[in-house]
Amino acid sequence: MPEELKTKAIVVRAVPYHETDMIVTLVSPEYGKLTATARGCLKPKAKLRYAAEPMNFGDYLLGGKNGRYIIADCSQIESFSSITTDIDRYYAASLTLEVLAKLTLDQPEPALFVDALSTLHDLAYSDKDTDEVVTDFLLAVLRDNGSDLDFAHCNVCKCDLLGDAFFDIADGIVCAHCKNFGAVLIDAVSRAYLSGENRNISHELKARANMLVADILYNILGTRIGSHYFAEQL
Ligand SMILES: [Zn+2]
Repeated sequence: MPEELKTKAIVVRAVPYHETDMIVTLVSPEYGKLTATARGCLKPKAKLRYAAEPMNFGDYLLGGKNGRYIIADCSQIESFSSITTDIDRYYAASLTLEVLAKLTLDQPEPALFVDALSTLHDLAYSDKDTDEVVTDFLLAVLRDNGSDLDFAHCNVCKCDLLGDAFFDIADGIVCAHCKNFGAVLIDAVSRAYLSGENRNISHELKARANMLVADILYNILGTRIGSHYFAEQL
């Protein structure tokens, strides 16, 4: 049965296929992850070349059957192309697309989609610090998945966290007294940064805090993210 599907979507991945085609992975807020062929888009002067560019955000018209789609048309909403002129912004955007791709499965994830879109917006058009944009995105992803982590208070005894804190899957963020064996250390500097008490730290320390959040995300959601991003940062 022929189908036609119209949806807003972001390109999270594109790989060449045959001589002039691309296989494009799209994430839609309504349909989740979709795979579509962009026919002939590698030909010179191909009209829909941009529709197969990672980060492209557009209104897509897909045709096809049995879940095998072809990009019939796309009207671009944002290319976010300014991100590609700054290597740190570019790595942060790649992490954003990776998270969006890995955490969107068959089900649509509209809250994650909105967070990813606003993160790409910040990276392209705001002067917000790149590391902090990544931090805020990762914390928002956890919040969307029901883990609104409080780095200012122990989740068990409710004391104010001042120095180091600890994370484990059963209790969340806790103080030294409440921690279980095997809990992950969140050093005092990372904790104060993640709670928002002190964001005035170096790029290296922010990257370390982001890595801790990526670890927490892995513990909670079972998805490893950002290995490429973090390899470039440290
Ligand atoms: Zn405690």
